[in-house]
Amino acid sequence: MNCNIIKDLLPSYIDGICSEETAIEVEKHIGNCVECKHYMHAMQQPTKHIIETNVEVAKEPFKRIVKKRRLQVMTAIVLTFMMTVIGYQVVQNVGAVNQFFFPKVYAIADITDDSEEWRNISFTDYNFNNQDYVVYDSLFWKKEVISDANNESDVLLRVKDEKGNVILEEFHISPGKSFKLGDLKRNKKYFFEIKAPQGRFNINAT
Ligand SMILES: [Zn+2]
Repeated sequence: MNCNIIKDLLPSYIDGICSEETAIEVEKHIGNCVECKHYMHAMQQPTKHIIETNVEVAKEPFKRIVKKRRLQVMTAIVLTFMMTVIGYQVVQNVGAVNQFFFPKVYAIADITDDSEEWRNISFTDYNFNNQDYVVYDSLFWKKEVISDANNESDVLLRVKDEKGNVILEEFHISPGKSFKLGDLKRNKKYFFEIKAPQGRFNINAT
């Protein structure tokens, strides 16, 4: 049977409404003719094929919007989480953060007699750590000592290194004044000593 006749018969064959004899003829031809076989397959698929294509095309932009939206939501969640963690850390470590970026130690020197001796000063930092020395452990230190404005008189100070050598000879600071310590090195222990008349003196180091 000729290809054109087969193609004419294919719709009723596919729908199963042709006679048995026609069906046999069509199958016989299809078995030997590649072109008609493809033609039949194409006829069997078309509806499904068109629907799928259209749905895929229609879905694409929507998918992209969903994807973008999902990304935005995820980003927002991650950012919120990070901000919360960082915020919590900052609040928890406000002392540590301050001590790092605005390093400062406080000392109260109680001079109980007028013996005019050098006394070591003990410092406390933001985290309430107490040390009888100062370590300039970051670049943020100003390397200054300040005598509190409420101190009753001038004080004499000097600085020693770990071995007990005097690094900075005595200098005096009036109440409310500061003294620049110059080029003391980083990550070394410096011991501050005070000589003052009887009284209580607040000394800060930054
Ligand atoms: Zn054919």
